[in-house]
Amino acid sequence: MNTSTATATVSVLPTYEKVAAASNEVAGLLAKHLKTETQGEVLFSAADRGRYATDASIYQVTPLGVFVPQHAQEVATAMAICRDLKVPIVPRGGGTSQCGQTTGVGLVIDHSKYVRNILNLDLEAGTVEVQPGMVLDALNASLKKHRLWFPVDVSTSAQATLGGMAGNNSCGSRSIAYGNMVHNVVGAKAWLSNGELLDFSHFENSSGRAKQIGEFVKQLAVQHQAELQTHWPKVLRRVAGYNLDIFDNQNVRPYTHDGKVNLSHLLVGSEGTLAMTQSLTLRLSELPTAKVLGVVNFNSFHKAMDSAQHIVKLGNGALTAVELVDRTMIDLSLKIPAFAPTIRTAIIGEPEAILLVEFAGTDKEKLKHELKQLVALMGDMGLPNSVVEMVDDAPQKNLWEVRKAGLNIMMSLKGDGKPVSFIEDCAVPLEHLAEYTDALTQVFQKHGTKGTWYAHASVGTLHVRPILDMRRDGPKKMRAIAEEASELVRKYKGAYSGEHGDGLCRGEWIEWQFGPAIQQAFGQIKQHLDPLNLLSPNRIVNPPKMDDTSLMRFGNNYKIIPIQTALDWSAWNVHNDAATEQTSSPGTGQDPAQGLAKAVEMCNNNGTCRKFDAGTMCPSFRVTRDEVHATRGRANTLRLALSGQLQGGLESPEVKEAMDLCVGCKGCKRECPTGVDMARMKIEVQHHYNEKHGLQLKDTLISNLPRYAHIASQWPGLMNLRNQSPLLAKLAESLTGLSAERSWPEWKKDHFFNGPRVGVSAEEVLKTSKPVVLFVDTFNGYFESENAWAAHDVLSAAGYQVHIASRTKQDTPGQHLCCGRTYLASGQVSKAKEHAQALLEALLPFAQKGIAIVGLEPSCLLTLRDESLVMGLGEMADTVAAHAVLFEEFLAAENKAGKLDSLKAKLGPAQKPILVHGHCHQKAFGLMSSVTQVIQLIPQAKVDLIESSCCGMAGSFGYEASHLEVSKQMAEANLLPSIRNNKDACVVADGTSCRHQIMDGTERNAIHVALLLARHLQN
Ligand SMILES: Cc1cc2nc3c(=O)[nH]c(=O)nc-3n(C[C@H](O)[C@H](O)[C@H](O)COP(=O)(O)OP(=O)(O)OC[C@H]3O[C@@H](n4cnc5c(N)ncnc54)[C@H](O)[C@@H]3O)c2cc1C
Ligand code: SF4
Ligand code: SF4
Repeated sequence: MNTSTATATVSVLPTYEKVAAASNEVAGLLAKHLKTETQGEVLFSAADRGRYATDASIYQVTPLGVFVPQHAQEVATAMAICRDLKVPIVPRGGGTSQCGQTTGVGLVIDHSKYVRNILNLDLEAGTVEVQPGMVLDALNASLKKHRLWFPVDVSTSAQATLGGMAGNNSCGSRSIAYGNMVHNVVGAKAWLSNGELLDFSHFENSSGRAKQIGEFVKQLAVQHQAELQTHWPKVLRRVAGYNLDIFDNQNVRPYTHDGKVNLSHLLVGSEGTLAMTQSLTLRLSELPTAKVLGVVNFNSFHKAMDSAQHIVKLGNGALTAVELVDRTMIDLSLKIPAFAPTIRTAIIGEPEAILLVEFAGTDKEKLKHELKQLVALMGDMGLPNSVVEMVDDAPQKNLWEVRKAGLNIMMSLKGDGKPVSFIEDCAVPLEHLAEYTDALTQVFQKHGTKGTWYAHASVGTLHVRPILDMRRDGPKKMRAIAEEASELVRKYKGAYSGEHGDGLCRGEWIEWQFGPAIQQAFGQIKQHLDPLNLLSPNRIVNPPKMDDTSLMRFGNNYKIIPIQTALDWSAWNVHNDAATEQTSSPGTGQDPAQGLAKAVEMCNNNGTCRKFDAGTMCPSFRVTRDEVHATRGRANTLRLALSGQLQGGLESPEVKEAMDLCVGCKGCKRECPTGVDMARMKIEVQHHYNEKHGLQLKDTLISNLPRYAHIASQWPGLMNLRNQSPLLAKLAESLTGLSAERSWPEWKKDHFFNGPRVGVSAEEVLKTSKPVVLFVDTFNGYFESENAWAAHDVLSAAGYQVHIASRTKQDTPGQHLCCGRTYLASGQVSKAKEHAQALLEALLPFAQKGIAIVGLEPSCLLTLRDESLVMGLGEMADTVAAHAVLFEEFLAAENKAGKLDSLKAKLGPAQKPILVHGHCHQKAFGLMSSVTQVIQLIPQAKVDLIESSCCGMAGSFGYEASHLEVSKQMAEANLLPSIRNNKDACVVADGTSCRHQIMDGTERNAIHVALLLARHLQN
């Protein structure tokens, strides 16, 4: 084919423009055909399209619709429909691309929900064939028993799909040992846009159309041999353009072991523009059984960069990673409670940078020797005593988790200025690393910004993102910085696109990198494989400008609708200074939504909430695998609503749907790397929804429970009738929506609040030397009084004078104190505030005296440390919060201070193993270790923590008929099976609703930790 005409023929087809204008007619036909011809999910609402319009990049392009195929064959059907209607197709996995690869007009096909199975594991050949939607961590978990793994360990391993990784030619931290995706894929079956399903594997053995494609590309490689030699970067990390060099390898590491050409490599890195992957065959590696880590501390960033070239020569083949973490990232990690203890184990003093140097193999003793070589090398380089040696596995694993969270840690900066990905993965030869980083730092300074560095130092890939405000002058600065950075890359003979792909932000740099002739060859490849230009058009070939603001999430027309919020969001309503990263004072950020919009915009779409590993976030996504039910889906929905991109705003049905399965567990508050607090947002959103639509009967019934509890408890026979009569339960379900399958908590005539008075008076507790105030909540007080009495007994046995907090104002006689949680759960902020105010007034005198306020129910007590602070309750809320602690937290701290000897002497030995389930809010506040510590006060206690997410009950969530199934599935994910598998164990759960769920699912009586301790008290 004549090269001069080829690019011209790959013009943007008129269909592209047509669909870009989102013709309703085409969309309607597309949705209709998909619905009638497949069983997959057809998502065409404005909210669905909005949620899939973006990925972990700065871009946003709204697709025509989204299709979630039930199985692989439906992908082919959807492609055929698109072909007929001339609708472009955007393949998608986890949507964690950083450059906008998964944003585009047309039909997004999401493989991650169903098309995610292992098709064939060949242990003899050491290969596995997988479907493209399979997540890397899921694959590696299933390979572990065979002592194998797929070693392209991207930081997003918990959410990145193999199809997406192949699409982007992803690279892991250990690429120096294992190479990139392209070095580890050995075959692919893929559909061309004309519907042909081809087997892309060894070129020599191939036949038919696949062979013909190979011949075509080979001829291009031969034709462009001179350009390949001149323009192609000679580094490991080059992922730009198409892999034309499979026929004339330019990579420092051969693509195949035997030197033969593998046609699947043509698809790797093609970003969904050449073919739709049906399956991938991957080469597996032996799982290293031993690892050691040396953390080298540097007092100068330059020295760290300069050292990398010497460190990589160590290890005799056992060196697997050299990773950089800079001062800013160290400081940010120290501010994040989940990461601070770990990063402290790695640093000596206040280093400017650290390098994580890993050696892996089968013999730990041999690896220790390599570690000593590293120590010796650093000594020779004038850095004695600079290496923290980590030989044990646990501290290494923890530190890698912090390193993996690198980008997310950086993104936790509040305000409109954010670290932006566009030159974040340029790769330069190691000998130039130090000079390159110095020069780029100066470029940033010139443009009034700075960058935080973290890097795969072993392979010269430097992740740096200058802080830019993309709503203001960001796009302009972005171009200027990109141009200057590219000059440096050229000067040091590096690769401009070294890891995350081209997408929208680097597409236009492909020609810059390879020259016009090779760019033209890329056009010919695209034309040859996808003459219809159906697959992700205008990516790699004919890409748009990187700074086209019409393609950006915070583009020219992005505007927030003014709203009056019920909660105080001013902490997010700040400006930040790009050069210093300092933020202005709360409330000064000019957010028309009073900080709510900026809190929502903290979500950068990195997708960490799409995870299944240990931890809580996000229980609803774990069950449904739906984008809408991940924290990211919710944050995107709220962003669309707040910025007028969703009709009806916060009160719209789409927002209601997105929030419906959020259990308010606060898992995201702790585990989302940028701190998106969806539980709090849900309260705010419910408030706005109620204002427009009013309250439902069930909300009135449940929220007012603390108000009517003292009356209801006088008529337990009547109140409990509903539990005894299936007919009444059915009737109640039809009236309230509360499931007939669930029992309701049993009312009791005798309860803590009307039982014998225990504890000392307020006056006495203020005077005593060992004071404590016990806040007994509605649920423990009325329904499980034994917990409140147990807490009193244990604290008394430990020598404390216990005062039971009670109302100071007797205007509402008979009523106990309440935190307002039941009102918050249904968005009734002003009513919650009334209750919280009364509680705070009662607790304030004790808090002012520094007396601990101890609570039993995690969601109630922790309201004092969370929502109470943002309800406009002033300083008293802060004072009380500073002294509000959970029962176990109090005892764990007192034990640490050596004050529990008398209690310990009174505790008899444990008779059974103890299994603990943490309430989500306990986990969100990082309090689970205090539960296990307190249990260990019991002699011979053997404690195991269940690795569970939310129990699924979550206040009233699991009681509702519409949530029953999801609630049960949440519990069945881990919690209930773990309990069933431990028949003899005593189960401890501090949450009322968790105990209820455990009883419903296993008929086992879980108990509060206070009751456990009380039961071990000996006279
Ligand atoms: C915080 C963070 C850290 C990251 N760290 C790394 C890292 O360490 N190393 C690294 O390399 N990348 C990293 N990335 C980028 C990204 O996570 C990876 O590229 C990842 O492999 C993408 O996987 P995905 O499933 O999300 O793919 P997606 O983003 O969904 O898709 C990626 C590409 O593959 C295409 N594609 C998907 N499925 C198919 C299919 N069936 N057929 C054809 N094409 C398909 C898509 O069209 C797209 O072009 C990081 C991103 C973030 C946000
Ligand atoms: S909600 Fe948090 S974890 Fe989820 S994508 Fe957004 S920033 Fe990431
Ligand atoms: S509060 Fe829980 S359920 Fe809701 S988004 Fe966050 S992690 Fe998911």
